[in-house]
Amino acid sequence: METVLVINAGSSSLKFQLFGVAAAGDLQRLVKGLVDGVGTSPRMRALGVDGVPLIDQGYSHDHIPDLSAAAQLAGTWLSERQGFNLVAVGHRVVQGGPDHDQPLRVNESVLRNLERFVPLAPLHQPGNLEPIRMLLQSRPDLPQVACFDTGFHRGHTDVADYYALPRRFHGRGARRYGFHGLSYEYVSARLREVAPKIADQRVIVAHLGNGASMCAIFAGRSIETTMGFTALDGLPMGTRCGQIDPGVILYLMTETGMTATEIQDLLYRESGLKGLSGISSDVRDLLESDSPQAAFALDYFVYRVGLYAGTLAAALNGLDAFVFTAGIGENSALMRARIVENLAWLGAELDPVANAEGRLAISTSSSRIVLLVVPTDEELMIARHTLEVISKDTSGAK
Ligand code: ADP
Repeated sequence: METVLVINAGSSSLKFQLFGVAAAGDLQRLVKGLVDGVGTSPRMRALGVDGVPLIDQGYSHDHIPDLSAAAQLAGTWLSERQGFNLVAVGHRVVQGGPDHDQPLRVNESVLRNLERFVPLAPLHQPGNLEPIRMLLQSRPDLPQVACFDTGFHRGHTDVADYYALPRRFHGRGARRYGFHGLSYEYVSARLREVAPKIADQRVIVAHLGNGASMCAIFAGRSIETTMGFTALDGLPMGTRCGQIDPGVILYLMTETGMTATEIQDLLYRESGLKGLSGISSDVRDLLESDSPQAAFALDYFVYRVGLYAGTLAAALNGLDAFVFTAGIGENSALMRARIVENLAWLGAELDPVANAEGRLAISTSSSRIVLLVVPTDEELMIARHTLEVISKDTSGAK
């Protein structure tokens, strides 16, 4: 069977999924794996069809010193264990820069272009590109496709895309790129299948996971989103601060003497739910805790989701549907219920039974807006894009 490998490489972990390509071009997930602890104590885990465990093994740091080695480890294990016929690899690349609104096949010159965007996403882009570089060298004939988290938002109007800085800074790359685009694109496509009327209307999708953002979508296109230049902006997240007055950062630099690296660490790793609660970045831990700080962190999150619903509803000039997705949005009936309370002014009415059961539609029949839960699948989106790009290539575009 022909297969497509999807790689999502972070700073210290590499997630991978293998999809089989069935006769009609349908994709079937065969393996879902992770190499984490890269740089400290690497470990590879993988599950097969129906969640059957296939491997759970630790390695020495000398054996797997970096993400390239992690990608090689996963590739070798997959080829030995699965005996698959790999036709392409799709990569999640966080930053496509101003020009890339579509996934594309990577060669040396595309890779060099994507390297220019490292300063725009210094924590994510280098890790995303490392396995691509390694495979270009070791398997130059294997097609690789880069899929961008920013791509889905590239159609924003200028008023949505600019910061109110002197215009030349926009040309230098200081724009509101937006992220989680692969998730929004997947959910938006899925809406066409499960709620086709809604798919052409004014929709807010709330991607509420460890990273969290929200997107205003009209007729399947992103028109506004809560993240901007980096994945720090907008909602508070597990460990990221979300929206913050840039004056706070100037203050930290000038008055406390913190360095740029220390501030980066503070904003990306020590803030958000973790910083506010002092307990955990994980909503499950906070829901279980009886600490007032845990309750405060959750109140803060719920309040901000409500605030941004107002902002995005204004961008859409009204609202027809609100969609929950990602870890918190898909799994926590309690958080959904709390968030919907803050959407009452938009006419949202929750059906508590449907919500508790995690059904697709969780609003009452009299609710003015439709409330939905639509699980996201960024890896499947990447696999689809990868197949599309390589089939165009092989049909003569090369
Ligand atoms: P990532 O951004 O890493 O892809 P996910 O979308 O997988 O994150 O979301 C992970 C987060 O979802 C966890 O950190 C946790 O806060 C939250 N989560 C997952 N399951 C539940 C649950 N049953 N109840 C509440 N929160 C949950």
